[in-house]
Amino acid sequence: MDQAETERLPATATIRPAGWRAEFLFALLLFAGAATALWLTWPGATFLSTGHWPQTLFFLVFSLFTISIGFPHPVFGHVSFDRVAQVSSILVLGPVDAAWVAGLASLIYPWHRLRQGVPLPKVIDAVITNAGLMTLVVLGAGLLYAWSGGSVPLDTLDLESLGQLLLLILVMQGLNELGMAGIFLCRSKDPFQVISLFETVTELVSGLIAILVAIVFTQMDLAVFALLLVVLSAGMLGLKQFAQMRRKLEQLVDARTEALQEKTEALEQLATRDMLTGLRNRRFADEFVQREIDLAHRSGRELSVALADVDHFKQINDGYSHAVGDRVLQRVARIFSDRVRSTDLIARYGGEEFLFCFSGAGEDMAGQVCEDLRRTVESFDWSTVSAGLQVTISMGVIGRREDTNAESMVAAADARLYRAKHMGRNLVVAEATVTRPLL
Ligand code: GH3
Ligand code: MG
Ligand code: MG
Repeated sequence: MDQAETERLPATATIRPAGWRAEFLFALLLFAGAATALWLTWPGATFLSTGHWPQTLFFLVFSLFTISIGFPHPVFGHVSFDRVAQVSSILVLGPVDAAWVAGLASLIYPWHRLRQGVPLPKVIDAVITNAGLMTLVVLGAGLLYAWSGGSVPLDTLDLESLGQLLLLILVMQGLNELGMAGIFLCRSKDPFQVISLFETVTELVSGLIAILVAIVFTQMDLAVFALLLVVLSAGMLGLKQFAQMRRKLEQLVDARTEALQEKTEALEQLATRDMLTGLRNRRFADEFVQREIDLAHRSGRELSVALADVDHFKQINDGYSHAVGDRVLQRVARIFSDRVRSTDLIARYGGEEFLFCFSGAGEDMAGQVCEDLRRTVESFDWSTVSAGLQVTISMGVIGRREDTNAESMVAAADARLYRAKHMGRNLVVAEATVTRPLL
């Protein structure tokens, strides 16, 4: 029922998917297995003998028709109604002839894809995979059906034959999914993806339709049978339309959901990021710090908060221009982001003030990180931003105490920053330590 996806890849796709070698070898294995099975069961084949070939020809045409009215499927690539032809041909022709019919139909069908621009290797892939798999599925399940005493041709229904028919349909489904799981494994996809309720229901309904077709075929005269086929075909076409509509609807919902997600993310970025530097903004920082403090309280982990402020930033704005001031802020932000772990928070807290939250770091360690930041800003070649420019920062660092909250920690860091400013700037004040620039 599931025709291998290879034949339905878009016409423009010329690059083979990863793992195609394994997939191709698997297809060859299926094909060789099918050929061997047909050779071993050849004595049971009757389709070439007088009187049998018109029926065989009918089921070949019917198979091609049922393959052609398949519909696209998100997991399998394509699902077709050939199960109807496969099951009914087993019940009318017997398993060996039905396997020949299924194999031949899969050998013939994919070639028209060449006209749709599908590359030759993909068509060959599809021919080999589908012919191999379908022959094995029909032959395996059909022989089991015959072995269990299932009658061919089927002309009546009783409790026993219903059990045998159920066995036939379930074994076909099982073998088919086993083959598809093998193909999925070769493509490094999850083989359990082949289990799909929608597909299983379609298969079971197809099986039931097939039983009807077989009984009617053996019991009724040709005119009534032809009429029934027309009705059935119309039904299958309707089902196809329904499946296509469902798929289109799913695609539409997926596209809308994706667009909505993108918009939500963009809005979230706008609400939590600072436009000039791309760092987190104050609103985000306050919530983040409080969350981290709560977590640290519960786990007993260390945590430090630091505030950085650009020294004499007003003079930079006045002496060089506001635009240069902006570029200084952007460069300082970049220096910070490059040197601080991605799990730590850096936020633009005010005009030229930045807030840091170092999770898992005590005051000492955080003080060392801040000293590294101070030194990197001081030694950066600021003439690349504007000739003669020199920039330094001051920082205040505070480690977590019991019963502190975000507000009090930020206030304590600010007090230490104020001390650093007071002590002459270009300094980091952490605990009792004051790191001074080397002279
Ligand atoms: P101190 O060393 O004491 O920190 O001196 P300062 O001049 O840096 O301190 P002050 O807080 O007085 O100056 C901050 C200046 O930052 C004032 C304000 O115009 C400027 N500023 C705030 N936001 C921005 C911005 O987005 N871009 C630019 N270029 N300047 C800004
Ligand atoms: Mg300042
Ligand atoms: Mg300031």
